[in-house]
Amino acid sequence: MFKAKNRLGLVFFPAFDWAISKTHPEREERLLYTQDQIFEEGIQDTEGIEFYNPVIASEKDVSRVHIVVPNVASQLSQSHLVAAGGAIRAYKAVMEKEVNKSFALVRPPGHHTHRVVYGGRGFCTVNVGAVALERIRQDYGDLKVAIVDTDAHHGDGTQDIYWNDKDTLFISLHQDGRSLYPGTGSIEEFGGPSAYGYNINIPLPPGTGEEGFLYILDNVVIPILNDFKPDIIINSAGQDNHYSDPLTNMNFTAQGYAILNERLNPDMAVLEGGYSIEGALPYINLGIILAMAGLDYSHVFEPDYDADKLKQDTAITNHIEKLSEAVYSLWRHKKELAEEKFKNKKEVTRERKIYFDTAGITEHQVQKFIICDDCSGLSVIDSSNDESAHILAITVPRKSCQYCIDKAYAMYDSSNQYPYTNVYLQDRCNDNYLSK
Ligand SMILES: [Zn+2]
Ligand SMILES: [Zn+2]
Repeated sequence: MFKAKNRLGLVFFPAFDWAISKTHPEREERLLYTQDQIFEEGIQDTEGIEFYNPVIASEKDVSRVHIVVPNVASQLSQSHLVAAGGAIRAYKAVMEKEVNKSFALVRPPGHHTHRVVYGGRGFCTVNVGAVALERIRQDYGDLKVAIVDTDAHHGDGTQDIYWNDKDTLFISLHQDGRSLYPGTGSIEEFGGPSAYGYNINIPLPPGTGEEGFLYILDNVVIPILNDFKPDIIINSAGQDNHYSDPLTNMNFTAQGYAILNERLNPDMAVLEGGYSIEGALPYINLGIILAMAGLDYSHVFEPDYDADKLKQDTAITNHIEKLSEAVYSLWRHKKELAEEKFKNKKEVTRERKIYFDTAGITEHQVQKFIICDDCSGLSVIDSSNDESAHILAITVPRKSCQYCIDKAYAMYDSSNQYPYTNVYLQDRCNDNYLSK
């Protein structure tokens, strides 16, 4: 019997009875082959690897992160709550020191879910990883966290949630948004006024392979993490950069994902996308499990793996080297850049159109960040959609000053229903969530 070098906790929740639709790529049997592969490898008999059952995320767990319109019960299925609860259980296993690391293999995924939720977008309805992270912050206190998103799609939802949070460094490696959903994720999207530089996008050209991913990891991601010094590192593990993925155009491999995981050395990982359910997912997920457990993964290859075919084009290599330099230079100059950009500003507004592709809803959102000298300031969202919802959502972030907390409650109390259909107050300081 094998013995894991690192004690590893696994939560496996394949949600075999839930899907957006029968033919949808994020489908019921998505983790079926992964399950077979894990058992074939004997992971369940490996000493030091523990399987945990998910818990069910509560409405409050969701409300710490999201403004769900009109409410949590109407938008989230039991499967969504168990997926989020699976990540909570996995993260808690690490925080309680039951294990050294954990991996939540859950679905449906979560990283496209923004703060405001009108329905599903990008196969996601609740940001599973963010819900779990805010739960452990609630239970275990302040944590400086780095989230590294290795899904092929830009993690726009996680970016949105942590846009103005300096304690949560978000790094997304993804296929360039000019060639893939959701279209965002350029290096200029660099964070809000209180966290400028703490949102890092690395848009990679289609065709990027092992060489490119590992170059970015070694030359940008790890140096930034060494500067940031997080208490914990979380990997939003999307497996759709694989060369066989039907939705994307990348050239990454199971070996590459395992090497990346070993070097990144995350404390927790949560599954995001990945739609090559037979050709890629079993091998990538197994590679990551072995890497996290500190076990040998050098035998994990796809049956059709061919190194020559997957060799990265020189033009891509050159592009990635330049991109690396640009991103790392921005990170090093973030303070000066923030001073220049937000000098003497009392508030900063961003206006966006967000499309909920699953629900078929278009949102128009104006978010105002009210700058405070003593804390990271309030966020006020005025959002309407083409289904006649119009909401006001006031967010008090963690560690706000009393002045900002009082101001938020005064704003909530004085906001009459009209013209809003709903008004929300999200108070992370007191873990209090109100709506009217
Ligand atoms: Zn994806
Ligand atoms: Zn304040």
